[in-house]
Amino acid sequence: MYPARFEYFAPTTLDEAFSILDREGDEAKALAGGQSLIPLMKLRFAAPRSIVDLNGIPGLDTLAEEDGGLRIGALVRHKTCERSELLRGRYRLLGEAAPQIADPLVRNRGTVCGSLAHADPQGDWGAVMLAARAEVTAASSKGSRTIPIDDLFQGPFTTALAPNELITSVRVPDPGPRASGAYLKLERKVGDYATAAVAVQLSFANGTVSHAGIGLTGVAPNNVRARAAEEALAGSELTEEAIEAAARLAAEAAQPHSDIRGTADYKRNLVRVFTERGLRAAAQAARA
Ligand SMILES: Cc1cc2nc3c(=O)[nH]c(=O)nc-3n(C[C@H](O)[C@H](O)[C@H](O)COP(=O)(O)OP(=O)(O)OC[C@H]3O[C@@H](n4cnc5c(N)ncnc54)[C@H](O)[C@@H]3O)c2cc1C
Repeated sequence: MYPARFEYFAPTTLDEAFSILDREGDEAKALAGGQSLIPLMKLRFAAPRSIVDLNGIPGLDTLAEEDGGLRIGALVRHKTCERSELLRGRYRLLGEAAPQIADPLVRNRGTVCGSLAHADPQGDWGAVMLAARAEVTAASSKGSRTIPIDDLFQGPFTTALAPNELITSVRVPDPGPRASGAYLKLERKVGDYATAAVAVQLSFANGTVSHAGIGLTGVAPNNVRARAAEEALAGSELTEEAIEAAARLAAEAAQPHSDIRGTADYKRNLVRVFTERGLRAAAQAARA
């Protein structure tokens, strides 16, 4: 099906984009990679009156380490993350997730920030950013503000962003020198959304876990953190018993539904198994 009629804007500065968004209100939609918005428009699940294409705005495609963290601009594509040498070592969680998203065509165009703004419970970046304790910078004509990732997701396909706000970047704090992560995802076939997936981020200090982050994909109305599991791991020596106990807590944090991808019990068990494996893999990488 063809999308409904819309007006197309191609601003070349953020200020120009903001003034269009102010004028058009919630009848406007930003366009980044278009890999979620355009399919929705073609299915007529979305019929915005105006499209504000961000792709002509310079300076939004920066992926760099700065100010004690990693900054990922609004036009950084999944593909860029897949290939970036920065997303190794302590940022390995991000580098592992990127190639597991969709297929090369989608990864060439789709963006990290677009995924976060889309807030699909099946989206991979949401769980990754929850585990990494990221924060997004949201901006409008009124100025900019920082939204902790925990506050961004408010429900399926619903965020804390106002209709006239854009995510200009997402910032991942430096997890420290002895840190790493892992992303484990089960998909029915290559390119599919997750049946279930688990993002794990670990930092160590003096031989114990100083910080644990665990984010879940596809097993709740939005991406969720397994908080009880994270708290149980903090300060632990990450023994096998601690890993197994945390994995059981992570499974309890999942609220999956049975669907064509699997039963709720199956998905909960996937979360348990992936959390165990993710914790072992992240610990091994952090200690290497
Ligand atoms: C076949 C297929 C398979 C896929 N598989 C996966 C998968 O396995 N895992 C996964 O995570 N995703 C998957 N996706 C989704 C893909 O990752 C999208 O790229 C992503 O969800 C949205 O990013 P985008 O840049 O394409 O956003 P767009 O489609 O351009 O926009 C999506 C939404 O976010 C808003 N938006 C975009 N950028 C901003 C911004 N900077 N500020 C404010 N709002 C903004 C738009 O207005 C729109 O509402 C798949 C998509 C397809 C078509």
